[in-house]
Amino acid sequence: MSLLIIGTLAFDDIETPAGRAANEIGGSAAYAALAASFSTPAAIVAIVGEDFPKDTLEQLRSRNIDLSGVEHAKGASFRWAGRYHENLNLRDTLDTQLNVLTQFKAELPPALRDSEVVFLGNIDPDLQLSVLRQLNRPRLVGLDTMNYWLESARPAVLRVLERIDLLIINDEEARLLSGQHNIVKAARAILRLGPKRLLIKRGEYGVLAFGDESIFAMPAYPLEEVFDPTGAGDTFAGGCMGFLAREKGNLSGTPMRRAIAHGSVMASLVVERFGLRRLWELAPADIEARRQAFLRLTDFHGA
Ligand code: AMP
Repeated sequence: MSLLIIGTLAFDDIETPAGRAANEIGGSAAYAALAASFSTPAAIVAIVGEDFPKDTLEQLRSRNIDLSGVEHAKGASFRWAGRYHENLNLRDTLDTQLNVLTQFKAELPPALRDSEVVFLGNIDPDLQLSVLRQLNRPRLVGLDTMNYWLESARPAVLRVLERIDLLIINDEEARLLSGQHNIVKAARAILRLGPKRLLIKRGEYGVLAFGDESIFAMPAYPLEEVFDPTGAGDTFAGGCMGFLAREKGNLSGTPMRRAIAHGSVMASLVVERFGLRRLWELAPADIEARRQAFLRLTDFHGA
């Protein structure tokens, strides 16, 4: 099954302890779709301005990513700037320019309305809801959101949460959403809001999964050098959702755990270079080698 992704296509200005990059192509939809494209065909619903490079769009198409849902508008594309601390789990947003995003309607071309597996990436929750309403028979819906929306549009976020299957957010967002500091209590409170499963991303500490009969944990891969954590969250989500789409949206124990492992593998790779660069150059053998490394990392020789 293919994966429909709504999110941003962006220019990012990034500063990390390892260096800086300006006008780097990014955006939640770009990371998620490229990561997913190693598992399944993907489609992007997003908006770009006149400045967005045609050859990037062409490259995305060449990866089996359908861009029929990408709107082209007059004006500048969405732009974001961020700076990471020495502790890479900490990031300051220096600038967010919505630009053409303010005109985005997220209207799906008829062919995409039959999509069954959908990732509603980080964007205005009213747009996420509007995409949901246009779908004929969604089977698995994943969602990401962020502090910005939890603070400025909480009622809309709560409305989307009632209608989704899988919520993928970070620990800070989980605390903000639930009002609970303890992560297990936070998870329990969030699951009462609607989602069947909840994945809490904890940066370099990995991921916790809730909503199954037991809690599942996957570490992040301990890398000696992280160049740029930008997009790690979206890459995790795209990798995970792409894997689940290939499993026909099955959220039960083993496919879910493998999807989480696959998302973690993809996220551990994307941070090795700036922006999307590592995802562009990635070969299936690199993914398999990192998967093997994860297996060795997490094998405690239990029964
Ligand atoms: P992540 O590091 O996974 O949180 O994602 C970083 C990506 O999200 C960057 O490529 C940004 O362009 C994009 N981004 C930043 N802020 C927003 C926002 N408010 N809405 C949508 N996408 C955003």
